[in-house]
Amino acid sequence: MNYIVSFDVVALVILLIFMIYLIAQRQTRDRSNSILILMLAVSVLSAIGEIVFVAMVSSGLSGHGFSIVANAGKYLYFMPHNMIFGFYVLYTYASFDIWHKFRNNRILVGLWWAIVIIGQVTALSNLFTHKVFEIGDDLVYHRGYLIGIFYMSGFCYAVWTFIVLLRYREMANSSRRVTLFLIYPIVLTSIVIQYIFPRYRANMLGLAIAFTLFMLVVQRSEYQKDLITGAMNIDTAISRIKSALKMEKPVTLTFIKIVNHGNLQMYLGQDEYAGFLHMMTDFLSGIAHKHNYPVDIYYLNNGLYAFMADEDDINLAIPVAEDIKESLMQEMISGEFAVRTDARICLVRCPEDVDEFSTIFTLATTFHDTMADYKDVILYAEHKNDRNFMIRNEIGDIIDRALEQGNLYMCYQPIFSTLENRFVSAEALIRLHDDKYGDIPPGVFIPMAEANGRIHAIGDFVLHNVLDFISRIDIDRLGLRYIEFNLSASQCIEVDLVDKIMNLIDEKGIRPSNISLELTENAADINPAIVDANVWKLHDAGIRFALDDYGTGYSNIKRVTSLPVAQVKLDKSFVDEIDNPQMWIVIEDTIAMLKEMGKEILVEGVETAETAGKLSEIDADLLQGCELMQGFLFCRPLPEEEFVKFIEDRLEN
Ligand code: C2E
Ligand code: MG
Ligand code: MG
Repeated sequence: MNYIVSFDVVALVILLIFMIYLIAQRQTRDRSNSILILMLAVSVLSAIGEIVFVAMVSSGLSGHGFSIVANAGKYLYFMPHNMIFGFYVLYTYASFDIWHKFRNNRILVGLWWAIVIIGQVTALSNLFTHKVFEIGDDLVYHRGYLIGIFYMSGFCYAVWTFIVLLRYREMANSSRRVTLFLIYPIVLTSIVIQYIFPRYRANMLGLAIAFTLFMLVVQRSEYQKDLITGAMNIDTAISRIKSALKMEKPVTLTFIKIVNHGNLQMYLGQDEYAGFLHMMTDFLSGIAHKHNYPVDIYYLNNGLYAFMADEDDINLAIPVAEDIKESLMQEMISGEFAVRTDARICLVRCPEDVDEFSTIFTLATTFHDTMADYKDVILYAEHKNDRNFMIRNEIGDIIDRALEQGNLYMCYQPIFSTLENRFVSAEALIRLHDDKYGDIPPGVFIPMAEANGRIHAIGDFVLHNVLDFISRIDIDRLGLRYIEFNLSASQCIEVDLVDKIMNLIDEKGIRPSNISLELTENAADINPAIVDANVWKLHDAGIRFALDDYGTGYSNIKRVTSLPVAQVKLDKSFVDEIDNPQMWIVIEDTIAMLKEMGKEILVEGVETAETAGKLSEIDADLLQGCELMQGFLFCRPLPEEEFVKFIEDRLEN
């Protein structure tokens, strides 16, 4: 038969190109990548065998020597060919991140090997029986009946993969899923073509086309890799961790945080810093390699690396982590610079230690802060009883729970006027009571809510709750001018902030002048245009503003002069040092300066009568001094009803 060899040659070229490309890309040590390389390698061998065979039988030559070459070619074709679909099974498990479903199932592993062995033994048996195929000295090719076993083994793998693809289809996005299924019609079509027109050796070309689709859609490293560090990127990490949790796949995560990454970036400059990060990837994977610890390495931005190992044996991870810790303490050379890193390492098992994605993510991004004191490798499991640590790590869930179950409520701290000698307003302060962890102070959960975006939901809650409260009490009868509440930096940049507040004021039927909004952090640094627009619009609508925490650095003189704030709240840190003569000068001058600007002054955190007395001494000299005081001396923040009762009681007196 005069076969046409060119299809196979084209197929071989395509397969070789992809194989070389994948090997060159290999630093990620990704399992699916490795399996794909194996799959390509057996396909390449098979294509070479096929080409040798086709070349021989189409050459018109004959004789024993040529027959040996043709036979060798056919064996080289058959034996690896049987493995292509075998590796496809493995590839599906690996690329769907369900490798453990295969590896931990002895029956499946046994079955996989059994099919391999049956296929290979059948092929080898042909040496003696010639029941699979035969190529005589005339170089004519005959099939034997045992070739059926051979087809069967390939068919078994194909069915197996199909079942896996169907069963775990939700593990891949639609384009990947479609591509993984597409291999079937493509390969089938090529087999049918080759069967009907034996001259056209379309089989290998079909495979090469399927591989091309793979490379274009499924195995695109640029989607998975972080280009600067050469590690896998954060998106890949997120989707891998999520799917591991979903499939209950046990994994160990090692988080390695370069705490001083910001300093290094400044010290090294952008270019060299990029080089340093890349060096770090190689360095870390080198250590894992040295310990034979099979991991994928990820870069999660901001100096945070992660190892993910398909192992929940923490004892394998510990020596690696300790070695990294040791090694990172040494000075490193990056380009022309000597570099000292400050690293924190945390080990966590999923799902054993943590089975919630958000918890893992918070842990990864905060453990170096939460556990700043721990210089050794941190084993998450050992800190499960540390309440503060757990609160920080579960804060996302805690806040969600609180919003859902109504575990948030407002307290009101009365504000005392030294001029009028009575309470004239109050600050609304949020409280959170969690069923699991009890009361959690806003100083803990507000900054974390800012970081994870839940602050908007909290802000809306506060807004509704406080405005509703004002609408329910008779604020004039209680002798209160307004209720103050805190606006966080993230709220100040909400584009619909003004509408939200104004609509609610309308809805609740209250006066704009009954509320006062406290501003703190430099939200203007994030987006000055929006903050200014929001504040001025609200101000023009008659809403008061106060500047909170003045003197802490978050609220500075620029804010006082640029924003329409009627009141400035001196931070507790001022009064804490009231006995320090230097500080006293600062307090007096600050008050004098703010007075001159026409601001109303409130002193926060007044705890003792001495402090209050000392502050009112300023009175005489400086135009009524600090007329407003807030602090435990007067009253702690109280729940709604107690607050109203507290004020009513003072009215009667
Ligand atoms: P802040 O706005 O400066 O509120 C004053 C804090 O000082 C309150 O703490 C209050 O309970 C506390 N305090 C009042 N008098 C004294 C005193 O005499 N001594 C001491 N040691 N503390 C006193 P709290 O309620 O724990 O709130 C802490 C911070 O959390 C607040 O500081 C504010 O920045 C934030 N926060 C509280 N509620 C909210 C809210 O509804 N929304 C937003 N965005 N932030 C809030
Ligand atoms: Mg405040
Ligand atoms: Mg304050």
